[in-house]
Amino acid sequence: MENKEFNYKKRNFYTSTDRAEAAYEYAKGYTAFLDSAKTEREAVKEAVTRAEACGYKPYTFGMKVKAGDKLYYNNRGKSIMLFRIGTEDISNGVRIAAAHIDSPRVDLKQCPLYENSGMAFLKTHYYGGIRKYQWVATPLALHGTVVKADGSTVDITIGEDPEDPIFYINDLLPHLGQDQGKKPLNEAIPGESLNLLSGSRPDADLSVRDNVMAILNEKYGINEEDFLSAELCAVPAGNARDVGLDRSMIAGYGHDDRCCAYPALTSLLECADDTHTLMCILTDKEETGSDGVSGMQCRLFIDLIENIALALGGNPAQVRAASKCLSADVSAAYDPNFPEVFEKRNCSEINCGAVLAKYTGARGKSGTSDASAEFLGWVRRAMASKDVVWQSGELGKVDLGGGGTVAKFIANHNIDTVDLGVPVISMHAPCEVIAKSDLYEAYRAFDAFFCF
Ligand code: MN
Ligand code: MN
Repeated sequence: MENKEFNYKKRNFYTSTDRAEAAYEYAKGYTAFLDSAKTEREAVKEAVTRAEACGYKPYTFGMKVKAGDKLYYNNRGKSIMLFRIGTEDISNGVRIAAAHIDSPRVDLKQCPLYENSGMAFLKTHYYGGIRKYQWVATPLALHGTVVKADGSTVDITIGEDPEDPIFYINDLLPHLGQDQGKKPLNEAIPGESLNLLSGSRPDADLSVRDNVMAILNEKYGINEEDFLSAELCAVPAGNARDVGLDRSMIAGYGHDDRCCAYPALTSLLECADDTHTLMCILTDKEETGSDGVSGMQCRLFIDLIENIALALGGNPAQVRAASKCLSADVSAAYDPNFPEVFEKRNCSEINCGAVLAKYTGARGKSGTSDASAEFLGWVRRAMASKDVVWQSGELGKVDLGGGGTVAKFIANHNIDTVDLGVPVISMHAPCEVIAKSDLYEAYRAFDAFFCF
């Protein structure tokens, strides 16, 4: 008998169409964004530049707002919320796309510099869920901000210019790695061994470590105490690249979650329909639980929604109840090299479009906001309105692992929220992979959501 099982996924929906060309073109802008925004601070700067070029202006609390206003709130340079006031009654709510712009990486500690055996190192504390063995023996760049004793600020980027030196975390050679090789992957590289190799040459009257500090002082005017008030992050050095002879994919650092942040931002800036009030959130600290002043759990988001509601004569509670949100975050793409962790009918696959994940969480959906059937139904209609190619997805097999996004922190404010994003191969690796077609469909999905 013929198998009439419904095919949930459209694979390779781009064969040779205008949409495929548009996707490849869109991907060029995206890779440029990836290369210029490796940290949340850099992503905020990029977003401000792009928003201002589209007529967006800084918002301050208490400001009068009216239909057509394009505004942004730069939260300490680490997260940003952009919004455009629609022509309809604010009581109809706000359409929100919320992505995060922080990515897993290796942060410097506050007292990082030391010397051992003629090598200078910088001590680190990793940020987010990294697989530590992936961060050794690979070129790393240092990005960040130092606040000096006098209060002035210096931005640092070392390792991106081809002329720059890079940093490096040592690993064992196979010849001496036999004991290490028997350890579980998660234990083979202890967190305290993620030390950045930063120098090995003493000066005439300076030790190796003091010479490293002298070079930093000469170039950036910083002293060793200034590390105490610094945020310096080691991220993979170098630029994103196309993958595959057909150039259908992109390898790069931090697709999670800039492959959703970029589509969310560009779809807001380019949205042609002025009806609804739109909001794009690019938040920080998702990878460490969304806490803190720059995280999604910060009160700022609600302050903004409520201030806008009141400024437009709306009732804040009513506005929140009528608002809708796409939590713009990535999902794990099915990987045929590791089939044992995926349940193929329900996980996302590359080149099958944007992923809609009704729920996240772990072990019995714990920690998920689990979007309602009604809201999923509404999102389906929104996607259909612009012929968006999308698929349903979940993170992997039941009881194998799991994860969360910012969705629940928004849903907890009485705002219907569901996750929509891009399937990623090797998520959280220093170099992750996505497909260009999925990236473009995510962009089209946010546009459909903003316009429907
Ligand atoms: Mn993410
Ligand atoms: Mn993540």
